Order: sequence, then C-alpha cells, then structure tokens
Amino acid sequence: MTNHKNNTKALHYGHDTKLSAGARAVPIYQTSSYVFDNTDNAADLFALRESGFIYTRLNNPTNDILEQRLAAVEGGVGAAVFASGTAAIATTLLTLLKSGDHIVSSSSLYGGTYNLLSVTLPRFGIDTSFVDADEPENFRNAINDGTRAVYLESLGNPKLDIVDIEAVAKIANKFDIPLIVDNTVPSPALLNPIKFGANLVIHSLTKFIGGHGNSLGGVLIDAGNFNWENGKFPEFTEPSKGYHGLVYSETIGPAAFVAKLRLEGLRDLGGALSPFNAFQIIQGLETLDVRIKRHSENALKIAQWLEENPEVAWVNYPGLKSSKYFELSKKYLPEGQSGIISFGLKGGYERAKKFTDSVNVFSLLANIGDTKSLIIHPASTTHQQLNDEQQKSSGVSRDLIRLSIGLEDADDLICDIENAISTSK
Ligand SMILES: *Cc1c(COP(=O)(O)O)cnc(C)c1O
Repeated sequence: MTNHKNNTKALHYGHDTKLSAGARAVPIYQTSSYVFDNTDNAADLFALRESGFIYTRLNNPTNDILEQRLAAVEGGVGAAVFASGTAAIATTLLTLLKSGDHIVSSSSLYGGTYNLLSVTLPRFGIDTSFVDADEPENFRNAINDGTRAVYLESLGNPKLDIVDIEAVAKIANKFDIPLIVDNTVPSPALLNPIKFGANLVIHSLTKFIGGHGNSLGGVLIDAGNFNWENGKFPEFTEPSKGYHGLVYSETIGPAAFVAKLRLEGLRDLGGALSPFNAFQIIQGLETLDVRIKRHSENALKIAQWLEENPEVAWVNYPGLKSSKYFELSKKYLPEGQSGIISFGLKGGYERAKKFTDSVNVFSLLANIGDTKSLIIHPASTTHQQLNDEQQKSSGVSRDLIRLSIGLEDADDLICDIENAISTSK
C-alpha cells in the first residue's frame, strides 16, 4: 500500500480485512478498553515494549485506521485524532510549549484559535505575536529568543488569504522553530503543506474531511521532518518526567512529537475522538477528493457570478483573477480553491444581516465544509467577541458574508443568492 497514490490510500490504508471478520467497511470498535493477556503483557504495553491497545483515550482500532489514512494523505509519519479541531490545536500547543514560550502567528485565524492564542494561553504564560501573513518577512521580524512555534492557516478562515507557506517554512526552519499549519480549509486533497516545509499539520475533521456536517473531530499530523535535538526542545531530548524517563527523540525518532502528543497530551488532557465519529469521518475521507473538487467548481462559478452583480461591493475567492491571492493560488491550490467565499453587498452591515436572513437553500449556521450550502455573517456571530481592531486584522469587515458552498446544483444556489439580493434591498 505504501506505493499507492492518495485516493487509493484514503480508501484502503491501515485496514486488514482479515483482522476484522472480513468486514469491507472499517468496523466501529466501540469499546473503552482492551483485555490484556496477563499482567506481563499489560506491563509491556504500558512500557511501550509491545504495541497494542490499552484504553480508548490513548488509542482505538477505528481511530488508528483514520490516523494512518490521514498521515498517508498528508505525507506525514504519524497522526493523532482528537474530539475536535480545537482539541487538536490546544493539545498540540500545550504539548509543545511551556510557560515563558512565545508563538508567532498569522493574524488571519479561525475565531476560536485567535481566542486561544490571544486570551487563554497568555493566562498560562504563553504569549503570541500576531503578524500580517501577506508578508512572510513579518514572521521573521516577530521571532525572539523565546519563540517556539510559528503558526498559520494555509487558507485563512474567513479571510481566505493564502500564505506563502514555503517562504514562512524557510524562516521558521532557519530559527529551528517548528511551523504548524492549520490546513482545514483546503483539506489534504487540494494542498499538502508538508511538501512546502511544514512540520506539523492540523485539521478540523469537522469540515471538508468529515464533510457531511454530522461529526466533530480533529487531527495533528507529524511530518517527521523537525530536528527536536536542536537544543530548543529539552522535553523531547531529556528523560520525560511524564512518561517514566522516555527520551522521545532517541526512542521514537522522527515521530517523537506525535508520540508525546498521544502518550502525554491525550492521556493528560483527554480530548479523545469517539470511535463512532472516527467511523463517520472515515466515510468522509473516502470521498473527499471528488467532493472538494465539486465544492471548488461550484464556488468558483458563484464567485464569478457575484463579481458581475452590480449590488455586490466586493468578492473574495482565491480562484478569481481579481483576487490578490490568485498568483499564490496557482502555486498552492492549482486543483481548486475550496468551497468558501466571502463577499460584501452595497449597504454594509445591515444589508449583510438582511441578506443572510433572506436565503432559503443556504442554512444560517456556524460551520463550513458540509455537503449542504451554509451562510454566516461573522461580525454579528462568530467574530462578535473581537474588538474592531481585531476584527480588521482577522479579515472580518462589518459587511462580510461568508458562504460555504455545498454540492447542490450551482444554478440553484445562484438563484437563491439572486433572490436574497433583491429581498435585502
Ligand atoms: C472549524 C475550524 C477549527 C476548529 O475546529 P472544530 O472541529 O470546530 O473544533 C480550526 N481551524 C479552522 C480553520 C476551522 O475552520
């Protein structure tokens, strides 16, 4: 299987049907724990002398197959799944960092991540400098002696800015700091950040990968390409107090980070994914490639239509020639620019609310990446807790309407938008 391409891997990787009664679908192992052969076997499992399952907070056979497939399609050496994208982000940062450490992050972030970095982590002594990611040099200028992570979203939600990952990776690499990329909006079917030098890749599996709006989940994929022995990360090179003296970089090797994330992060913070949700997300991953291309096709059609409409003040979609990110999209997203569009109507905040209340096919809710089309007005909802300055730097203007384009017929979606434009006048 290791020689196959990504679509084949997404369907088959990690599942030996002989070990699951011949079941063609990946079974749901809905169990909290696993019977040990005897006390010696249990001791060996806990000491990592033998590999196997102990307790579903740490690992589970259904989750394990999902992890293997996600690592394979992103090109990493290992993965750990979580109860949500947010749990993946928080557990990753809390495994990597300690009080006194510093993060340099793009300011164009998912609202929850922005709050984690700007409000919650500072309570634990972990501060973040936010930079405008359009200029990679801004990351370099914000790095200081305490910086231990560089963080960005490959396609920012909801700003839809494409970051020049390769340029930022070179800077992070030069300073021996891992680059963490949240690749949720493009999904692994459109972009693999590891190819451009990312060290750790995160997804909210809730979005396009699960794809049907029915299950939360998250993942961290370890590229296995970061040198933890560069002197800046003693927790990986010295005997771990948290796991009876294990030296991660030495014993585990390239997958040191994801091992610590599982053995200490999942054990101590507990954000484990339910095996039932893992099953749902596996169904999504099997069709991701065909779905995301249709999401992208539909979105491009609608973005082009919006651009021609006189009631529309501006449209932001990285696949449009008018987009400031069009050149970068040719490098990073040549096969499609995903399903998210943002735009503003003449009439600003009030008309944005009115428009949002006037659509019929689109559902007003706080999610993206569903088969069904979705709509939200971030300034009054997901981003209402940010002040004006923060709303601006995260790319959320007062009039911004975010669409997550689904798999309906594009003509029906356009018709719905056209009606809502008239109604909201
Ligand atoms: C949704 C989202 C998250 C958070 O994921 P949850 O599964 O909702 O916790 C993180 N990053 C991005 C880019 C997202 O869109």
